[in-house]
Amino acid sequence: MTMAAWKAIFALLLFDKNVGTVLVDGKNYSLKSVHWHSPSEHTIDGKRFPVELHMVHMSDNGKSAVVAILYQIGRHDPFVVQIERKLKELAKEACKGDKEAHIPVGVVHARSLKLHSSKYYRYFGSLTTPPCTENVIWSILARVRGMTKEQVAALQAPLSRENRNNSRPTQPLNYRAVQIYHESRRRHDEDSH
Ligand SMILES: [Zn+2]
Repeated sequence: MTMAAWKAIFALLLFDKNVGTVLVDGKNYSLKSVHWHSPSEHTIDGKRFPVELHMVHMSDNGKSAVVAILYQIGRHDPFVVQIERKLKELAKEACKGDKEAHIPVGVVHARSLKLHSSKYYRYFGSLTTPPCTENVIWSILARVRGMTKEQVAALQAPLSRENRNNSRPTQPLNYRAVQIYHESRRRHDEDSH
């Protein structure tokens, strides 16, 4: 696995083998990468959160499904704990030049993302970063998680100052339906090497 400060827009974790899948409408999507936005791009009842995680999944025929998790300031997030030291290295690397910075990350346990949240919001939209591909299935977990202020700062550190607020403004729904789902189990339980 590697981590990149992708065009200095956000820290991006790229998985180089299959670390898990989600089943959406009977189709399997594999987890390809994870990145963060600060503050959140999605709001719940008009409330914006300090951080939003995006897990980008792809199907075999190139369709995307993104699972989003919202964070408020709270306890240590067990997923970010695993990469905090690496984020510092990435920040140093990113300071050296204006090129995209990359560092190897090693093993990250995707299972600490624990996608066992049963309630989520779903709609069909587009990717929020270029090329803003249409027809992406979005699932936003209803349960907001916690992350420390230090972890939020660590996630922002590899980004250049002007890019630290990297969220796309909330888009009008344009009559898209947002559905609420309840699901008992998902799999993100293998490790990445
Ligand atoms: Zn995103």
